Amino acid sequence: MEQLLELYNAMGISPTVYNYGEEALKRLTDRFAAIDQIAEHNQAKVISAMQKNRVSAACFAATTGYGYDDVGRDNLERVYADVFHTEAALVRPQITCGTHALTVALSANLLPGDELLSPVGLPYDTLQEVIGIRPSPCSLAEYGVSYRQVDLLEDGTFDYDGIRAAINKKTKLITIQRSKGYATRPTFSVSQIGELIAFCKSIKPDVTVMVDNCYGEFVETIEPSDVGADMVVGSLIKNPGGGLAPIGGYICGTQACVDRCAFRLSAPGLGQEVGANLGLMTSLYQGFFLAPTVVAGAEKGAIFAANLYEPLGFRCVPNATESRHDIIQAVELGSEEGMIAFCKGIQAAAPVDSFATPLPWDMPGYNDKVIMAAGAFVQGSSIELSADGPIRPPYAVYFQGGLTWYHAKLGILMSLQKMVDAGLVKL
Ligand SMILES: *Cc1c(COP(=O)(O)O)cnc(C)c1O
Repeated sequence: MEQLLELYNAMGISPTVYNYGEEALKRLTDRFAAIDQIAEHNQAKVISAMQKNRVSAACFAATTGYGYDDVGRDNLERVYADVFHTEAALVRPQITCGTHALTVALSANLLPGDELLSPVGLPYDTLQEVIGIRPSPCSLAEYGVSYRQVDLLEDGTFDYDGIRAAINKKTKLITIQRSKGYATRPTFSVSQIGELIAFCKSIKPDVTVMVDNCYGEFVETIEPSDVGADMVVGSLIKNPGGGLAPIGGYICGTQACVDRCAFRLSAPGLGQEVGANLGLMTSLYQGFFLAPTVVAGAEKGAIFAANLYEPLGFRCVPNATESRHDIIQAVELGSEEGMIAFCKGIQAAAPVDSFATPLPWDMPGYNDKVIMAAGAFVQGSSIELSADGPIRPPYAVYFQGGLTWYHAKLGILMSLQKMVDAGLVKL
């Protein structure tokens, strides 16, 4: 313990900050144990799917060109399908990010004249241009797909009357975003999502339901595909990539939906048959294997942060004690200086680019300056410890990730140290 304190001290963390952290940790034993249990369950689920599909060294061989008969790629898709309990899966490095995966899923399963419904309010920023809520070339709107939205009620619950009224003859696909993203609403639990799906299907049994599963994978022991979703969609540089996948996205769902997605991603007639793995299979398999424990570490970090900052008077979403359904933590720091200090700490604790200083910056697509801290092995990876936020009231930093709990802990302690050093917090 003395040696650890010395090491931390040499890295810039004072004994006062360290001890404040240890006091908070004492209150978290039971919650961390519950997270470990979920990780154990999900670890077994992943290993069991890998065993069932006889994963072997042959699966890690690189393919190039068309990628016909790519054993590793096809088997990885069966592993994903088994973990998510779906008929089929499309898991590809050719899917460049979460937005791309969602775009493929939507545009493959919506035709001109169809209507898309979001019963949970405005979707994630990047999806707004995909749908055409903000006009954009090649949006679904341009192709004649209309869009309807039902906002959540004041208290964050589903507006069932509004949803019943919004579902109509044209409603083809319903999109549900699991994580709050950069909104202030709560993240939905899988069981809440299940209730919403059941309600929608009771009104229109043949409607397709897609869940944007970003940041939610492996936080619970069940996934939205266990409660009726026809497609679950996400990014491999978030939870399911386990920090090792250098690129990629996934769509797990019914055979009919996934077939269409494959035809949309490559070409009609080609579908899942083409798409070389380019030597990425080891990282995609091994990342998926590590993902349950990586997600557990990230979630512990989020809870630790809320339990450090909330007692100091900073509002945290989710708060220090509520249950969690994704890995994102928002901390309202109340000032630009607070956001800068927090992000400096996250950056200073990173294994990569720790020498860089994050500063507020103008970013395309944002009205306010944005600050970002990230020192990641994979560019933009947000399963790695990262923080960002727009410089505007309530000056909230959104942070997430941490490939190991100890890195997340160090990052959060360092953020608090920078707040103390800047005179913004007194312990
Ligand atoms: C990150 C995210 C996306 C988009 O993923 P990218 O990989 O950044 O394109 C979509 N929806 C939600 C809820 C997300 O968190």
